[in-house]
Amino acid sequence: MATITNMMEKLVDAIINEQKAKTDFCVCETCLADVRCLALNRLPAKYVTTSKGELYSKMDQIMESQNKLDLDIAVISAIEYVCTHKQHPDSKDIKSRK
Ligand SMILES: [Zn+2]
Repeated sequence: MATITNMMEKLVDAIINEQKAKTDFCVCETCLADVRCLALNRLPAKYVTTSKGELYSKMDQIMESQNKLDLDIAVISAIEYVCTHKQHPDSKDIKSRK
């Protein structure tokens, strides 16, 4: 069965994971959802029809055709925004980085 996927969501998730390893920011569910929303609102949607196995090869194609730097910038600025506009009080979860 073919499904429609917004590849940009997958790319943003991949970049958020990269940034988690590099940067210290709150990774609670709320903040991560905010980062995804903000970044995705700044980036064009990339819908593709896929059957399961195809997803990752399409992801590579899109990763190559998109300027990776634009994606990084969108995600990093979303992280910076969410860090300074947290929807919860500062607490221990700020240091919840693994
Ligand atoms: Zn948080």
